[in-house]
Amino acid sequence: MQTMYEQMDTAALDAALADLTRQVDEVKAKGLKLDMARGKPSPAQVDISRPMLDLLSSGADLTDEGVDCSNYGCFEGIPSARRLAGEFLGLPADQTIVLGSSSLNIMQSVLIHYWEKGVPGYTPWSKLDRVKWLCPAPGYDRHFGITQDLGIENVPVRMTETGPDMDEVERLCAADDSIKGMFCVPKYSNPTGITYSDETVRRLATMKAAPDFRIVWDNAYAVHDFTDTPDVLANVFDLAREAGNEDRILGVASTSKITFPGAGIAFFGSSAANVGEVANTLKVGLISANKLNQLMHTRFLPDLDAVRAHMRKHAEFLRPRFACVEEKLEEGLAGTGCGTWSHPHGGYFVSFDGPEGSAKRVGALCAEMGVKLTPAGATWPGGNDPHDTNIRIAPTYPSVEELSEALDVLVLAVKLVSAQLAREARA
Ligand code: PMP
Repeated sequence: MQTMYEQMDTAALDAALADLTRQVDEVKAKGLKLDMARGKPSPAQVDISRPMLDLLSSGADLTDEGVDCSNYGCFEGIPSARRLAGEFLGLPADQTIVLGSSSLNIMQSVLIHYWEKGVPGYTPWSKLDRVKWLCPAPGYDRHFGITQDLGIENVPVRMTETGPDMDEVERLCAADDSIKGMFCVPKYSNPTGITYSDETVRRLATMKAAPDFRIVWDNAYAVHDFTDTPDVLANVFDLAREAGNEDRILGVASTSKITFPGAGIAFFGSSAANVGEVANTLKVGLISANKLNQLMHTRFLPDLDAVRAHMRKHAEFLRPRFACVEEKLEEGLAGTGCGTWSHPHGGYFVSFDGPEGSAKRVGALCAEMGVKLTPAGATWPGGNDPHDTNIRIAPTYPSVEELSEALDVLVLAVKLVSAQLAREARA
């Protein structure tokens, strides 16, 4: 689609450029300092979990169904936390492990384990000539960092409205045994906010792939709905089990965006065989996780209903922010041909696509105007967005007023860069 600037005659385009440049200079003079870079809850949003901190004190009962949480033991996690993990991931409690505060840390540990020792019965990935990993893109930069750090070749696969392009995923996996895995954020994906369709989940669970192919099923936003019409995700573990692929799925999640980011509890869940094997390796370096934190969490959030009630409080903070993004982008860019964006029902991000070759320049121009964005390219493996279009908008941390200002800046930057691109194409 052409942008409105490409459609203008050169005189009109030059006038538009002059006007936009003047507006940009005015914004620069304001000395703004706004941050839309990372997906963090706002300080007031984090505060809703503070009552949890009062639940454990020196006089409290520190046992959980007979387990003493104040001492070593119970490596797999305390019973109430494993039950919660099971509800969360869609698995029986005994097919889960509850660990420390970070799901990213679990993903890295498990992949390093397979890299060094191999999936049981198969060659360690580090001993193979070539190991590739599918990375739905736009996606989560920290995922891509784990495999890149190990020397695994990240292969981007384009995201669609229903999840990763499954024709491409199936074609690649059927033809190439060096593809050993894939990252998935199946609900309210980071950053597009889409939820995988039932068909996508079924195809991932049943498709042909290398026998030691593993899917990191990162359900980081499993309960992070902020509308009355939440997306529903199919149970991948059931589908994989029925297809004889139950070892394929490595489920992870955490309470980072439910209670305290970096101080929550993290879950791992998979087939019974995988859970036993992963536990055995993690046990080498950990006697037991912080069970007092697990206990505090399950006293605060004993089951999924309690989690959902708590998430409705989070939604109060998120709804106006996402509404602000939608309103500002619609008001500033609808009908201009200068951008498209996602309209998520949950999660932490809006994914924005501008004209080809615009994203890095928009990011730089926003920075000059005092607005920090997630670096352009970060949503693609290696930072290489092939068409340089994608910008991840993280609207949760700033106040609605700050966000509103930041979006005015983003809209202005997108317009100026679009106009510049149209002019350069003509020069
Ligand atoms: N996975 C995804 C998709 C995320 O967006 C994030 C954090 N924003 C994480 C994992 C990190 O989770 P944790 O704090 O549990 O390591």
